[in-house]
Amino acid sequence: AKRQRDGKPRLFQQAQEDELEERLSLERELRHAIDHNELCLYLQPQVDADRQVIGAEALVRWQHPERGMISPGHFIPIAEETGLILPLGHWVLQEGCRLLGEWRHVPGLQGLQLSLNVSVRQFQQPDFADQVLSVIQQHDVPSERLTLELTESLLLSDPEGTIKKMQQLQHEGVSFALDDFGTGYSSLAYLKVLPLDTLKIDIAFVRDLALGMQATPIAATIIALAQSLGLRVVAEGVETDDQRLVLAQLGCHIYQGFLFGRPCTAAALSSAILEDGPA
Ligand code: C2E
Ligand code: CA
Ligand code: CA
Ligand code: CA
Repeated sequence: AKRQRDGKPRLFQQAQEDELEERLSLERELRHAIDHNELCLYLQPQVDADRQVIGAEALVRWQHPERGMISPGHFIPIAEETGLILPLGHWVLQEGCRLLGEWRHVPGLQGLQLSLNVSVRQFQQPDFADQVLSVIQQHDVPSERLTLELTESLLLSDPEGTIKKMQQLQHEGVSFALDDFGTGYSSLAYLKVLPLDTLKIDIAFVRDLALGMQATPIAATIIALAQSLGLRVVAEGVETDDQRLVLAQLGCHIYQGFLFGRPCTAAALSSAILEDGPA
């Protein structure tokens, strides 16, 4: 192949240019999407040992008019890099709280816990706690129903500020889950001082669980750790009954995964719960 001055094959450089162009147009379109209602919150159920739905995690989707449904793995990283995660995150907060406000008046839904993912950059805004509290107030949300999912990377830059903000929100009734636990920077010392309610076992540690296998030490350790700290533990990515059984044996009793339900619209989730009848 012919080479450019920088020594890269021409084809390779073309591919790089295409990728850059693709990212730029996604960024432009995402900006538009946030303002024009192309985003949608899907909900994935979280169930207890009796398979009763006790809550849901909100997972954002982008219903693109031409490209179809785009998954967050594709656009969240772009949103993070460009700062669009701030308006996007605020939209998620608004929409999630609007749902909680609706559920408040529906017997059968009013006890559900709703978890929202919060990006590091979003959480680190100086007025993040005030934003959350004002949206809670705006939608008349019972704050005990709201859980915010944070990741360990928050502790890298400003642990003291993080703890302060969490405490302020916890004081108002909001709960916190530590997401993807075990995949990032884990400081056991901070785990003790963070005002957490829940640890979420990452799908990576659930995937390998099978009956009679030895591959369980990480999941076992996380569950034991959560119990010793008095935290709830939620296993994500549970796809098989074997995985559920092993988790139950290890002492984890809240599950989320395709075995119990894929992410779906709020309408689909609530009709599934309401048709199922009262617990
Ligand atoms: P996450 O928070 O770890 O969310 C769990 C992901 O696992 C979701 O992917 C969910 O659809 C998927 N999942 C659930 N059960 C199963 C299962 O049984 N098997 C398998 N293979 N996968 C399962 P999704 O919806 O594509 O979201 C990907 C990531 O995008 C999320 O990972 C989260 O980090 C981010 N994300 C999603 N929504 C938001 C949001 O509103 N705000 C922010 N900041 N990030 C979001
Ligand atoms: Ca999550
Ligand atoms: Ca997760
Ligand atoms: Ca994950």
